[in-house]
Amino acid sequence: MSATSVTPQTLAIDGGSPVRDTFLPYGRQSIDESDITAVTDALRSDWLTTGPKVGEFEEAFAARVGAKFAVSFSSGTSALHAAAFAAGLKSGDEAITTPMTFAATANCILYQAATPVFTDVQADTLNLDPGHLESKITPNTRAILPVDYAGHPAELEQILAIADRHGLIVIEDACHALGAEHRDRPVGSLADMTVFSFHPVKHITTGEGGLVATNSAKFAEILRRFRNHGICSDARQRQANDHWHYEMVLLGYNYRLPDLACALGLSQLQKLDRNLQRRRDIAARYTAAFRAMDAVIPPTVRPGVNPAWHLYPIRLDLSRLRAERAQIFRALRRENIGVNVHYIPVHLHPYYRERFGYTGGEFPVAEDAYQRLISLPMFHGMSDQDVEDVIHAVEKVVNHYRK
Ligand SMILES: *Cc1c(COP(=O)(O)O)cnc(C)c1O
Repeated sequence: MSATSVTPQTLAIDGGSPVRDTFLPYGRQSIDESDITAVTDALRSDWLTTGPKVGEFEEAFAARVGAKFAVSFSSGTSALHAAAFAAGLKSGDEAITTPMTFAATANCILYQAATPVFTDVQADTLNLDPGHLESKITPNTRAILPVDYAGHPAELEQILAIADRHGLIVIEDACHALGAEHRDRPVGSLADMTVFSFHPVKHITTGEGGLVATNSAKFAEILRRFRNHGICSDARQRQANDHWHYEMVLLGYNYRLPDLACALGLSQLQKLDRNLQRRRDIAARYTAAFRAMDAVIPPTVRPGVNPAWHLYPIRLDLSRLRAERAQIFRALRRENIGVNVHYIPVHLHPYYRERFGYTGGEFPVAEDAYQRLISLPMFHGMSDQDVEDVIHAVEKVVNHYRK
């Protein structure tokens, strides 16, 4: 290509200038001075791991999501494992979940030696379709694990009603949905147990971290024991009571979230509402821009739902494009836009194919969506210019490949 043929419309992948000079990731944390002070204060205190910040963080979090109890964990994945344990999942049991998620949602079922049973998703929200649930329930079914994909709450009312009829426990994977609401009720107050993650790309971070919210005192007690080797009382209580005795009553793990991390979590929690508002504003700006583009399908929001916008996944209308998703993805990356894909459906991963014999074609709605999905950058620290750069890059690339 000669230099004179390069125009502002020439894609970076074809030798043009990228829309921006620096790479914009799809998600990242925001840490301010008050977060740093909270952590350094904790470092100077008597407690690095289980100390007063753990309970303070858990109480503040429970209040924020409208749950009676909150039990913190070392990650969202260990929180999922603990919830699967507390639900009583064991060898021979089945648990129903969605393929349109991060592998950890299904893996936690396998950690308990139970069998994950996938069910297809709704075409609009890509959340577990409650219409398929009843046909998947067998005498061995013990739990349902819906995921609030991208931060849009799953159909909790229907799922809970079905679970109730069949005596099943609902573990909601709300790792995308901290701060989301379903008919004016906060996610965290609805399911038997609701799981959150504090990974740096999520709404608030503790570095690594996770939590289970529940209204059940029984689940909360099991969860607390499970994260601490299956031991009944923690070191602080023993010291306060001048009491050497402890008992290990179940096979647990060391899944504790340290005081250091909880100090950061408490400080981050104060910024949750601001973070959510920023994500909602970015989503509104994106959706307004993409409504004008017929080859781009913005995410749907069902009535009565206030999503938390962990992700902003667009779907491409491939019938209007001369390129597959992979080409458009690569072109956007070359424009320095850190697009991603959420998710490769879990059953298509080699581990699940080999262990359970999946070949593809089992969950057509999820698999079709997967061919067309691209997650655009979405995080509360994005500037207005970052948002405009993303819109500009999507317009540039999609218009280039438009039929
Ligand atoms: C982030 C995430 C997890 C796991 O969280 P970690 O804290 O990274 O272990 C689980 N499920 C979903 C849907 C997630 O997005």
